[in-house]
Amino acid sequence: RFITFEGGEGVGKSTQVRRLLNNLGRQSIDAVRTREPGGTPKAEAIRSFILQGRSEAWGAGSEAVLFAAARLDHVHELIAPNLDNGVWVISDRFCDSTRAYQGLTGGVDDRLIDALETLALDGHTPDLTIILDMDPEAAFRRVEQRAIEDGLQATGDRFEKEELDWHQRLRQNFLDIARANPDRCKVISAEQSEEALEAAIWSLVSDRFP
Ligand code: C5P
Repeated sequence: RFITFEGGEGVGKSTQVRRLLNNLGRQSIDAVRTREPGGTPKAEAIRSFILQGRSEAWGAGSEAVLFAAARLDHVHELIAPNLDNGVWVISDRFCDSTRAYQGLTGGVDDRLIDALETLALDGHTPDLTIILDMDPEAAFRRVEQRAIEDGLQATGDRFEKEELDWHQRLRQNFLDIARANPDRCKVISAEQSEEALEAAIWSLVSDRFP
C-alpha cells in the first residue's frame, strides 16, 4: 500500500507519519517512511538545491520540473521496489504538493503539471492520500510554539516568506485537489490533539485496508 500525507505548512504531517508507522509496526506490517521533496540521495540533493536556492528565485515552472526529476528517482529507487516487495510506503508529501504549490499557487500550467505527474509517477498513484487541514494562523502558532520548545528557529517553511493570504490559498488548493479526487483523498482536520488526530488517521487507514 502507498499512503501519502499532504497539507500546508506546519500542519503536523511529519509527526503523524511517524505515528502511523508505529501503529503499522504494532500490527507487524512492514512499512517505510519517506518524504518529498527528497526521499533518495539524488532527490534529497535536488531538494537542498531548490530550497536553499530559493533566494535566487527559481521560477515555479523550473521548480516543478526539478521536483518531478526528484520524484522520478524517488519512485524508481524507493517507492516501486518497496511496493513490489509488499512493503507499505508512507510519504510525507508527494505529487499533490507540486500541484498545490507550483501549479495552483505558483501559476504553472495545468498541462505541464499533469504531464510531469504522469511521467514521474509511472503508474504509482497513491492508494490513499491524507490531507491534513488546518487554519494557517493556527498552524503558524504551532510552528512558533515548537520552535520555542526546541530552542530553535523554525526552518524550511514559508511562514517568514509568505503572506497569510498565500497560506490560505494553499489550504484551499489542497481542499480543491481533495474534491477532484474523492476516492483517493481524505481531508482530516489537524486542529485536534496529536493523539486524537493519530486515532482518526488510524481508523481511516484500518477501514480502508482491513
Ligand atoms: O514538508 P516540508 O515542510 O518538509 O517542506 C519543505 C519546504 O518545501 C516547505 O517550505 C514547502 O513549502 C516547500 N515545498 C514547495 N513545493 C513543493 C513541496 C514543498 O515549495 N512541491
